Amino acid sequence: MQPYEFLPEGFWRKDSPPNARVKRTVDGQIRRDVVVVGGGYTGLSSALALAQQGYSVAVLERGVIGSGASAYNCGHVGIQLGKNPYLTLNKLGLERTRMYADVLTQAIANVGTIVSQSGIDCHYRAIGNLTAGVSEPQRRDVENTFEACDKVGLPVKMLDRRDLSQMDAPAFVDSAFHELIGGDIQPALYVQALAKLAEDAGVEIYEDCSVTRVNTSGHVRADTANGAVLADMAVIATNAYSGEIGLLRRSIMPWSVSVMVTEPLTPHQRACIGWRNGEPIHTPHQMIENIRLTHDGRILIGTKRARLGWGDRHPPANDPVTFQLLFEVLRDRFPEIPDLRPAYTWSGRVAISSDLLPFFDHFEGRKNVVIAAGYGGHGLPMASYSGTIIADMLLGNNTDRAALFVNRKRRLPIPPEPLRWVVGHAMKRKMVEADSIIDAAARRELSARRALPRIVRTTYAGD
Ligand SMILES: Cc1cc2nc3c(=O)[nH]c(=O)nc-3n(C[C@H](O)[C@H](O)[C@H](O)COP(=O)(O)OP(=O)(O)OC[C@H]3O[C@@H](n4cnc5c(N)ncnc54)[C@H](O)[C@@H]3O)c2cc1C
Repeated sequence: MQPYEFLPEGFWRKDSPPNARVKRTVDGQIRRDVVVVGGGYTGLSSALALAQQGYSVAVLERGVIGSGASAYNCGHVGIQLGKNPYLTLNKLGLERTRMYADVLTQAIANVGTIVSQSGIDCHYRAIGNLTAGVSEPQRRDVENTFEACDKVGLPVKMLDRRDLSQMDAPAFVDSAFHELIGGDIQPALYVQALAKLAEDAGVEIYEDCSVTRVNTSGHVRADTANGAVLADMAVIATNAYSGEIGLLRRSIMPWSVSVMVTEPLTPHQRACIGWRNGEPIHTPHQMIENIRLTHDGRILIGTKRARLGWGDRHPPANDPVTFQLLFEVLRDRFPEIPDLRPAYTWSGRVAISSDLLPFFDHFEGRKNVVIAAGYGGHGLPMASYSGTIIADMLLGNNTDRAALFVNRKRRLPIPPEPLRWVVGHAMKRKMVEADSIIDAAARRELSARRALPRIVRTTYAGD
């Protein structure tokens, strides 16, 4: 593989300017109505929702805002429910999955609202996503997923070969349905959009401000290296990093997930792959593939493999084996461009709960503290909408609309080490094995499909 650059800060921050208004440290003790720990989508959306109700809010972020998954993700704004809508429907039943779908639909609409209210161009393209199978053995998964989405009222359209041809979908797409809401976005700019709205509403954001301990007995106290914030209410929004401050170890597994972008495609390369509108694509693999175009004309591939560390130790973010794998998958999916060149790689962390659904809990039963996590690899819309639900929980408002996620008691606990490591790796092995069958078939079938005359190729090239 050609050389590429590993970016510890991720790719998206390259064109998201630092926030000018943030403060650097909390010196001494300060008092606010609410302290929010973690400046990702969950923390910022909570801060925004509470400030809009008139509360004074301080957000404490240990890096810069978005230092967790929020500025590192693939930027798909999609309709995934849990691991996949089909499994979620089987597990939750129709009524509860409809509730999930309703909340998610509102969350996706909220992405567009945040972008437009902030006035920040987040490169949001509300063109939906394709859920796409890459080989014949995946067709049933695509159909099942489509049927589940349709049944719970999510706007989806099944595509036949003719539709795919008319859309000029990439040749590797064997079967697909179109999710008619959502799309793709530049996630770090979207963090900035949320932060801007929060600051405009009066929220104070402190960066480089690691919380070492949260004391919730009586008034809340969040300790940092140089001071502390005392507050009446708290939101703990540290998601996959929560274990590092001793929280959620039995509630989530933190997995590391990696991403690669190529060099910008040349006009010839771009013409070779068709994909006129560049609808972002995700696959129903056991370990999902996220494939999309960036606003500056690169192909991005994400996920495909996840890595689990031991205890609170995370696997190295710079993992050449994973990046090599991502590049090989890209080569498999786009054989039309043999001269594809990798450019940048990075990694981030997702938090998976035992039932693969996000949760918003009153921390240790306290009404004035909410802890939220567990979005898996699909948290962009949900986490950036979660603030409205979390604010309702803190303010004692009715949360029936999101009852599915609030104070869920029936989750199985994540086992302690070494069992967690054994179970996690056994699950991963099974998933990788299942995906290998799909991918081997995809390699065989794609060569055959490409041998057929593809009208789409010539029509696009002549555009
Ligand atoms: C590689 C990757 C690809 C993904 N792709 C997609 C996608 O395409 N679509 C999608 O919907 N979702 C995707 N996700 C998931 C999505 O990004 C997350 O679900 C979402 O960002 C979660 O937001 P959050 O605010 O809850 O957590 P985070 O963004 O992780 O925020 C937690 C914050 O807490 C801070 N923090 C941690 N410890 C402390 C401390 N002690 N003191 C102060 N601050 C602290 C962290 O620095 C971080 O900023 C992806 C995730 C990854 C990693």
